[in-house]
Amino acid sequence: MLTPNENYRNLKDSYLFFRISKQVAAYRAEHPDLPVYRLGIGDVSRPLCAAAIQALHAAVDDQADAKTFRGYTPECGIPEFRSAVAGYYARRGVTVDPEEVFVSSGASDELGDILDLFDASSPALVTQPAYPAYVDASVMAGRKVNFLTAGPENDFLPMPGKDTEAELIYLCSPNNPTGAVYSHEQLQGWVDYANARGAVILFDAAYEAFVEGDLPHSIYEVKGAETCAIEICSLSKTAGFTGTRLGYTVIPKALERDGMNLNAMWVRNRTTKTNGISYILQKAGIAVFTEEGLKQIRESILAYKQNAKVLMDALDRAGIRYWGGKNAPYIWMACPKGMKSWDFFDLMLEKIQVIGTPGEGFGACGEGFFRLSSFGDPEDTRIAAERMEKLLKDM
Ligand code: PLP
Repeated sequence: MLTPNENYRNLKDSYLFFRISKQVAAYRAEHPDLPVYRLGIGDVSRPLCAAAIQALHAAVDDQADAKTFRGYTPECGIPEFRSAVAGYYARRGVTVDPEEVFVSSGASDELGDILDLFDASSPALVTQPAYPAYVDASVMAGRKVNFLTAGPENDFLPMPGKDTEAELIYLCSPNNPTGAVYSHEQLQGWVDYANARGAVILFDAAYEAFVEGDLPHSIYEVKGAETCAIEICSLSKTAGFTGTRLGYTVIPKALERDGMNLNAMWVRNRTTKTNGISYILQKAGIAVFTEEGLKQIRESILAYKQNAKVLMDALDRAGIRYWGGKNAPYIWMACPKGMKSWDFFDLMLEKIQVIGTPGEGFGACGEGFFRLSSFGDPEDTRIAAERMEKLLKDM
């Protein structure tokens, strides 16, 4: 009899969003007349920008005409898309060769697929609280996962210590769920650590577009990252492609381990396991990285940032401690009066009909914290912030 992948037995139930939707559905069934205000979503609410929409229409028309029709696209990406991404890096002074850019259908897919490059015996290190895919994809691949705890004591930005054992390191900055962003110096610390040990960093930059000021958008802004880091990026939060699906991954040609070149290995992987990403979507991606496209996506990001500000102002007035929000779409607040995160979830739903995400769902050390998202509708966010402020002040 065939043996299934036994590693799936080691997966913990992923109950966070399931439990939230079940509890919200039950509440709505009991209170059909009460509106609910959603600050729990990690999905965007604003439509694709005009430049992307025009490019999508034009690409569909291309497919209707024998003269412009495109069949399979190159597995690693249309050269114009790879160059557009390299140009996006160049704007921040980071040199990336277009052949180091690989198109993808999103960061989630890549976070799992990329593990093909590494032997399953190399343990992963995940900073926790964490986006659940890091742990689950590693467990499915039979990889041991070690954790490094993020908390108020390190501003949710843990650094490796003398005793930290790591071979494959997941870093997410700006972080989901905490909204924390590593500085250049901190990333330099991780890069030096990884180079010294021969480890590889998987740097999840899904939220880089929210970074402001003198903080790094990319790990390649740090010296030596090209010999130890892979960067996984997505147009989901940058440009509203959550339902459209497009991303990119950067694997420097200088990244080698044990005489094997990871860029060349990924070319081999992609040319074997994919037949490219839709021509139509890549055309939309190219449009995002034009001057016009970048200006338009900036407007959406600023609108989400405005939501974050409304929420942060309310928390400030209520005297609640929080992290994130400034360079990330998420605000990570301490639950009031030392409450547990699911108890605070229940309280918010029952008393003010505002839905957030209990921190415990991102790992045990998320207990006592709560994630608020700025991706919602501005008016809903305003009402939710008002209600939260009152609730928190009255406690
Ligand atoms: N990485 C992080 C940290 C995320 O929060 C998300 C989505 O919420 C993803 C990756 C997945 O992005 P994508 O839509 O590109 O699969």
